[in-house]
Amino acid sequence: MKISYDVIIVGTGIAGLQTALHLPKSLSILVVSKDYAWECNTFYAQGGVAVAVDSEDIALHVKDTLEAGTGHCDSEAVEVLCSNGPLAIQNLIKMGFEFDKDKKGNLLYTKEAAHSQSRILHAGGDATGRHLHLFMMQQLPCPILYNTQVTDLLIDENRCYGVRVFHADKIFNIYAKKVVIASGGVGSLYAYHTNARTISADMQGICLSHHIKLGDMEMMQFHPTAFVLGNAVRKQLLSESLRGEGAKVVDEEGKRFLFDYDERGELASRDIVSRAIFDYKQKHHKEVYLDVSSFPEEHFKQRFPSIYFNMKNIGYDLPMQKIPISPAFHYSMGGIKTNLEGRIVEIEDLYAVGEAANTGVHGANRLASNSLLEGMVFSYRVAQDILKSIDNPKEKKHFSEAEDILIKEGDKELKNELRNLMWSYAGIVREKANLEKALKRVDEMLELSIGKLLKLRLLVSKEIIQSALKRKVSLGAHYMKEEIHT
Ligand SMILES: Cc1cc2nc3c(=O)[nH]c(=O)nc-3n(C[C@H](O)[C@H](O)[C@H](O)COP(=O)(O)OP(=O)(O)OC[C@H]3O[C@@H](n4cnc5c(N)ncnc54)[C@H](O)[C@@H]3O)c2cc1C
Repeated sequence: MKISYDVIIVGTGIAGLQTALHLPKSLSILVVSKDYAWECNTFYAQGGVAVAVDSEDIALHVKDTLEAGTGHCDSEAVEVLCSNGPLAIQNLIKMGFEFDKDKKGNLLYTKEAAHSQSRILHAGGDATGRHLHLFMMQQLPCPILYNTQVTDLLIDENRCYGVRVFHADKIFNIYAKKVVIASGGVGSLYAYHTNARTISADMQGICLSHHIKLGDMEMMQFHPTAFVLGNAVRKQLLSESLRGEGAKVVDEEGKRFLFDYDERGELASRDIVSRAIFDYKQKHHKEVYLDVSSFPEEHFKQRFPSIYFNMKNIGYDLPMQKIPISPAFHYSMGGIKTNLEGRIVEIEDLYAVGEAANTGVHGANRLASNSLLEGMVFSYRVAQDILKSIDNPKEKKHFSEAEDILIKEGDKELKNELRNLMWSYAGIVREKANLEKALKRVDEMLELSIGKLLKLRLLVSKEIIQSALKRKVSLGAHYMKEEIHT
């Protein structure tokens, strides 16, 4: 196998695939993927892609994004996202991608929470991610190395030379002029999450082990409506668009209690709805449901085919039956700190993009459906930046292929303990004492004889907990029960 490329891209979600698609075919590019290419959050995205419907809507899209981000966004990053969004979508359509349209051929836009107007494009009803992923895979001009887990970055004197991987029971190095981290978020750190099984914060942990900065790691988004019963690791998401189009959150007696928490009811932002459901369940000891009975059956099947069939498979007859719901971890606003070109500034030739990156575009809370757009817009900027210096001469270096033991006996039990710890103590509602308990236990686990992969998870968990402890006052998705005034 070839062991040297112009560009290595870690991840086959929208951020990784789009970066590859934006680079010229003359470059040698390798995309690596921990599992099958489709086992990523992009594939499971349901609702759609947020984009300004016309030039006047750009300013409103910016305003909605900044408001959802609770004053914590990097306003320049938000401008970049919203003003480049329409062009990114036009390019995708020009390449042949089809979003859902009405009978007259007009694009169909839906509305999601905290958007001031309908601006979410979707494909295949609620299968936007699947359609996008298949389309990008069909266009991809370069090879993908499947079942390949990156276990380290090859870094020397603040420059990146490639990655170390675990593939087919072997550890080896692959060298590149540029490395792009597009490895997604941190879902598997939490007991209940909606993410693909591959999303376990490895690359964020590797970055921490090289003293590369992460940003906003206390900002973790919980989706209010997931079906968390059952044994599946990835919990079934019930798209935001359901509420946008009329689904109601009710208790056992059919009471729409969300209005007691926020005048926007079901259309309040995710963190507000998540906390309201969490609080209501705790205070009233009642089950909470998503009621979709206002949808005509045929329309529901057509508009939300994936949810319809997935829920049918586990015995739910939609739209007639109410679905028991709970919040679950969904999205990481925090990530590897980059500039607006996706560069990790402290290390030459290293980039991060998509959910793995932290440009500040989402602030303290991501506006629904902004992340697929982020993958498209920022991957283009990464590709452009790579092209500026790809022809510069780069010294060849050789790195040892010695690697720590990746998994040790007992890691699985500790990993599950960590997931429960993060869910209970660093989840939707946080308290100083609980965060301190979690930190103490994570530190203890770090002292044990554990494998490298668990260590990476622990490092990222520790970063989340410490960032949460540092932010003493609630902001956006970070909610402290007892605010501490010093
Ligand atoms: C159920 C669900 C529904 C969603 N719906 C929407 C929506 O409607 N609209 C929207 O905008 N956003 C939505 N999101 C969020 C959005 O899907 C993600 O934020 C986005 O797809 C992330 O894309 P990405 O390319 O950054 O990462 P991902 O698509 O998650 O891809 C990450 C890739 O990195 C690989 N990887 C990870 N670690 C390693 C490693 N160590 N070595 C090698 N490879 C590695 C993985 O295998 C995977 O290929 C949803 C998310 C979920 C979970």
